[in-house]
Amino acid sequence: MKKKNIETILSHDGKKAHSKGAVVPPIYQNSLFTMESWDDADKTFDDRINNHIYTRGNNPSVRIVEEKLAQISGAESAKLFASGMAAISASILSCIEKGSHIITIKNIYGPANNLLQNYFKPKFDIDVTYISGTDINEFKEAIQPNTSLIYLESPSSVIFSLQDIEAVVHIAKPKGIKTVIDNTWSSPLFQKPLEMGVDLEIHSCTKYIGGHSDVVAGVVMGSKVDIDSLFTKEFELFGAKMAPFEAWLLLRSLRTLKIRMDQHQKSALKVAQFLENHPKIDKINYPALKSFPQYELGKKQMTGYGGLMSFRLKTDDLDKVKAFFNGLSLFQIGVSWGGHESLIYAPAISYLKELTPEQFKGMGISLGDMRISIGLENVDDLIEDLDQNLSLI
Ligand SMILES: *Cc1c(COP(=O)(O)O)cnc(C)c1O
Repeated sequence: MKKKNIETILSHDGKKAHSKGAVVPPIYQNSLFTMESWDDADKTFDDRINNHIYTRGNNPSVRIVEEKLAQISGAESAKLFASGMAAISASILSCIEKGSHIITIKNIYGPANNLLQNYFKPKFDIDVTYISGTDINEFKEAIQPNTSLIYLESPSSVIFSLQDIEAVVHIAKPKGIKTVIDNTWSSPLFQKPLEMGVDLEIHSCTKYIGGHSDVVAGVVMGSKVDIDSLFTKEFELFGAKMAPFEAWLLLRSLRTLKIRMDQHQKSALKVAQFLENHPKIDKINYPALKSFPQYELGKKQMTGYGGLMSFRLKTDDLDKVKAFFNGLSLFQIGVSWGGHESLIYAPAISYLKELTPEQFKGMGISLGDMRISIGLENVDDLIEDLDQNLSLI
């Protein structure tokens, strides 16, 4: 039979896939799986990576989701983790030795940066070079004899800048440098890094893959050789496994991933176009806009766009910024994103705690910088909410 389309893979498990024809698979809420005899145990342990022995390794509820995620991402194999950060830390650890050098971009996800800068660097003598990532020559120039990993996030956090994924792979591969990408923004549907030659693709499943703001989870996908190695080392030994119930929730979420992503992208474009033309908005960062500096690169390597964007209000008067921020009724205030609900957050709230006023100025962040995640509400209602509150500044 010809390869099935995405919607079919997401919504269908195959006829009679589950016991007694259950249309939704049960939750295998087990810590262990028993064996029938000495010989059965002996055989089971010959293939620890694929057999069900103990839930810190495998669990059927988790396996169903791993297989579906691998299928839609063009991966040979996938491993689910307890969180996106567990997936990130395991992936990075699998690509470095003591004293390795890592190249990454300035605007990676904050906690990933924290992990590199404040943990791996001092503890394991890891050297990290940060580049903007928008010019391929920056990657070429940053490579050192001990470079073992190029860690990408495209679109990036905060400003959603892109890296030319194929071009990066092209320079990394011949030198034996591993490439890893955090692909959370695009979801597995709108960008296929593994097909572009990237070694490991990571998602925080807490965002679009979960989509209902009720699960924290992560996934790493790649070749069978890489994921098998990750399984026996960074996955099993550090123990950040996925819980069966969380996996069951993710399977529920995957049924609607395509239709949710289509709606997020449609609504987000309309909101972005509204903001782009609004007199109270200074600038907007959203790769689907024709005015986005890397619009052409985005079109080349993505087939769609997530619903997370940032913009700058035309004021940094804190009273006015707060009036806008607090006045919104449909955009709830919170971190995270990718769920059914629209959210707003101001990066300044966090940065002002971590930085001195001078450092804050140097970061190029304004009090009027806003990050919004476009949810599944009616888009005209969302625009009206923004419009009403922009009139307050
Ligand atoms: C949220 C997020 C993560 C971390 O995922 P958790 O599930 O919260 O651990 C990683 N990368 C990006 C881009 C994120 O937004």
